[in-house]
Formats: sequence, structure tokens, C-alpha cells
Amino acid sequence: MAPRKHAVVPPFRALDPELGVAERLLAAGNPALCAVVALLPDEHAAAHRLNGILADAGARPRLVRAGGAWRIVHVPALRGAGELVAGAAGLAELVAVGGWRRIKRCASCGRAFCDRTNGCTRRWCAEHRPHLDRATSHVH
Ligand SMILES: [Zn+2]
Repeated sequence: MAPRKHAVVPPFRALDPELGVAERLLAAGNPALCAVVALLPDEHAAAHRLNGILADAGARPRLVRAGGAWRIVHVPALRGAGELVAGAAGLAELVAVGGWRRIKRCASCGRAFCDRTNGCTRRWCAEHRPHLDRATSHVH
């Protein structure tokens, strides 16, 4: 695994509603967003694909590599641009604050999901995720 580069846990909730849309679309198997995830761990290829979704819709946020980190050039949300653009923007923002390691695939079914846990330790999609009780290691 990559070394921890993000000592401060970002306020992922601040990325909603876009990140929530991204999570919902990934859970539903949205082809465009899943195609981005499928390119990982090639971050540049995934960023190119993600930027392509944003560009196709006329959206202006772009994920750019700067100073050894992925950063987003943000513009106000587009009206009527559709869920895909919102979800794509949510993913781009997630990568900008948390890194590509926050976008994962379920250890059980391979479905893509966004990891919002403090330690970036989540391994399963919502459907296969064990109970959130961290005191136990039981899988129900
Ligand atoms: Zn799963």
C-alpha cells in the first residue's frame, strides 16, 4: 500500500451532495464512472477519463497534478448538467482531498465505492460491509 500522505482527515461530508451522487452512481454500476475506477491504479489514465466526462458535459472543474498532489480546479456547479457530471465532480473532489486511494473496489464483489473512513480502511461496498462496530471483527 502507499504510505500515508494525508495525516489530516478531510471533512468528506463537505463534498456532498456531489460525493453522495458519485457513491450512488458507483453502487448502481454507472458505466462512465466505473470505467474511471477500472483504470486504477493508473492515476493519470483515470484522471484523463474523469476529466473527459466533465469536459463532455461542459463542466469546468478539472483534476490536475500539481506539486506532487492531485488538485482540483473548481467552478460553481452547473445547473441541469445531470447526475453524471455531479458524480464525476464529486469523485474529482474526493481525489483532490483524499487521493485516489479513497476510490476502492469491494473485496467481495468488486463493486466500486468511496472510502470515507478516517483510516481509509474500508474494504467492502455498502451491501457487503460488515457492521460498523469496530470493537468486533465478526463478519455477519
Ligand atoms: Zn460488495
